[in-house]
Amino acid sequence: MYQADDFRSSYARKSTEALLDLALRGARDLKPEALDLLRIELNARDIHPAIDRAIRFQLQPPSEGEKEALVARFRSLACPVCGRSESPLTASWVTRASYFLLFTRFHSELIVGCAPCIDAAATRANKSLLKFGWWSPPLGLVWSIQGFLRNRRTRNPLYHVAPTPELRAYVSQNLGEVVFRVESGAA
Ligand SMILES: [Zn+2]
Repeated sequence: MYQADDFRSSYARKSTEALLDLALRGARDLKPEALDLLRIELNARDIHPAIDRAIRFQLQPPSEGEKEALVARFRSLACPVCGRSESPLTASWVTRASYFLLFTRFHSELIVGCAPCIDAAATRANKSLLKFGWWSPPLGLVWSIQGFLRNRRTRNPLYHVAPTPELRAYVSQNLGEVVFRVESGAA
């Protein structure tokens, strides 16, 4: 059974970071009563009022037009990697290799940042593919080539002129966080 006091005291004990994380990423999983109490607790902690809109966007997915506007505003934020805002935010996959306990591992990571930071990450990743990628025959070679191709697309400046599919997907999958960052000016 729903116990308002339990929620109230549980939220009161949590750190502000944990409450923000819940409000920005998990609003859809909360019952309306629990969400109201979370909102009250966040307001009491003087969180930027954009939190209400960030919650609403998760509960009522935006129209295509609203999403497009959100993508454009998200691109104008400062880069989370270098802090600069000269070039629009973008996102792309970077594939790298590492060597651990006699095995080569391949990892693909989504990077959100400005094009120069993404280019630097893909260059580092290419070096790791050259160094470790060939050590696990026969598939290491195949995975390395796939990695180089993916990183080549990531390093192509033309790929980042318009919003990439990865950036659009990031915005759609992180609506609460994106709305809060855009509207509160939080980097
Ligand atoms: Zn950057």
